Amino acid sequence: MNIFKAMKPERVYTNAKQIPWVSLKSEGINVALLDFDNTLGPDHATAPTEFSFECVKEIQEAGIRCCLVSNAKSGRSAGIAKVLDIPCVTYARKPEPIGVRRALDLMKAQPGEAVMVGDQIFTDVIAGNLAGVRTFMVEKLYRKEIWYVAVKRIPEKLVRLIARF
Ligand SMILES: [Mg+2]
Repeated sequence: MNIFKAMKPERVYTNAKQIPWVSLKSEGINVALLDFDNTLGPDHATAPTEFSFECVKEIQEAGIRCCLVSNAKSGRSAGIAKVLDIPCVTYARKPEPIGVRRALDLMKAQPGEAVMVGDQIFTDVIAGNLAGVRTFMVEKLYRKEIWYVAVKRIPEKLVRLIARF
């Protein structure tokens, strides 16, 4: 796959609640693969927030099943998923597609009926594109993020400038 193509999400939204979940369901989307850090909650949080719960509820009410796909250590992401009462793939190794594929297996879903939603090109978008699912990027939920993510925002800005999204 062309490297720029792999880095480009299909759509960009301000946050996960802005995604038109009901119309996505009518387009054949049955599964939402969700990043957590700065997508559903604060970066490196240990528990979901009200926003996390609202997103999951809205997605589920549209008839779409949720699965957390996180690069975080199994303890932290599994704990969050448990509180949210949704399945979870930990150590997803995004941008490799392996975690997204594991999530599809777990959800018994085909790539064509799933969308990966996340705030980072160099993890979520690439992983989703390589796994053949639809990819929606969201702007980071909070300004605060760990240094190695903050560093990646610089090349990310450049990619977004070049690829215009
Ligand atoms: Mg993230």
